[in-house]
Amino acid sequence: MKVSLLDLKAQYNTISDEINKAVLSVVASGEYVLGKEVRAFEAEAASYLGAKFAIGVASGTDALLLSLLAAGVSKGDEVITTPFTFIATAEAISYCGATPVFVDITPDTYNIDVSKIEGKITSKTKAILPVHLYGQSADMDEISAIAHKHGLKVVEDAAQGFGAEYKGKKLGTLSSAGCFSFFPTKNLGAYGDGGMVATNDEAIADKIIVLRGHGSRQRYIHDMIGYNSRLDEIQAAILRVKLRYIDKWNEARISKAERYNKFLNKVVITPFKKRDNKHIYHQYSVRVKRRDNFLDYMKDNGVSVAVHYPIPIFNQSCYKFLNNNSDDFPVSTEIAGEIVSLPISPELSDEELVYVCERIKGFTL
Ligand SMILES: *Cc1c(COP(=O)(O)O)cnc(C)c1O
Repeated sequence: MKVSLLDLKAQYNTISDEINKAVLSVVASGEYVLGKEVRAFEAEAASYLGAKFAIGVASGTDALLLSLLAAGVSKGDEVITTPFTFIATAEAISYCGATPVFVDITPDTYNIDVSKIEGKITSKTKAILPVHLYGQSADMDEISAIAHKHGLKVVEDAAQGFGAEYKGKKLGTLSSAGCFSFFPTKNLGAYGDGGMVATNDEAIADKIIVLRGHGSRQRYIHDMIGYNSRLDEIQAAILRVKLRYIDKWNEARISKAERYNKFLNKVVITPFKKRDNKHIYHQYSVRVKRRDNFLDYMKDNGVSVAVHYPIPIFNQSCYKFLNNNSDDFPVSTEIAGEIVSLPISPELSDEELVYVCERIKGFTL
């Protein structure tokens, strides 16, 4: 048997009639960028999330960049974040001319360790950028309390958490700005690049709307140097179709994760879900010893797995200039050496899931 990590064509096949119709109607409309599909998607996404505003942008990375800029992050500032994330989280901080200051993660959820944040705050700290890794919320109450105490902004990287919740509220609505990615492999994925910022703050929404369109409110009048960061109509039309399925798909992820837990809880270290969280398992990531052998073994058995992420950001060569020492990040360092993401998608069949589990048991024994 062959099991792929994520089969995007299988998902398309379940909704192809609706998608084809939506795409063709945009192509025939003559309106291709920031038009009525984007406006409708923004309204529907805002309502789904329970946010006052949702603003479509060109990617998740841009959502982070524009949110940090709108929150006032600029040259010379420091932004506290996790080193155990996709590189874009740190890149967005760097694009602002600011410095990412890394705080180690907790060994249970792999999210930022809130007990270590205050030790990293300096007079230059402007914001905290938590990541809701794998679709599970960071400890937002503690983060908000620290931010409030020190006068800092919070921007959420919710790129892996569309539809996930913290204490009954959707991720991306728990701070100044919540950032989403619609990269095709995300749990709400377009058929190209796309992103979105959710916010309840009108001033931030306004600034992001101006920044995404070349700093302009009125055509050819530019109040600030902005960006080209627009969402296009085809992607918005596709996302409008997919938004109608997101709850069903997230529920399917959760039930597959629970099934994996049952098979694997004594075999590998399975994901830990905090009680207050609705974890949507954007990734189902387990920890194994002898990971290199495990990766080869799974490949030989026809199962595609992935490592999110093999190298903490402070150890990436592009961030060596920050002179971080891995000894200061023991948890990130250890987890990065053991973590493996197993196939999990709404389309993964039970037969495939059982096959994956049986192979894993075969490795460990
Ligand atoms: C995917 C992702 C991003 C970047 O999103 P793009 O749309 O690819 O730019 C940022 N942060 C995290 C945690 C992600 O998973």
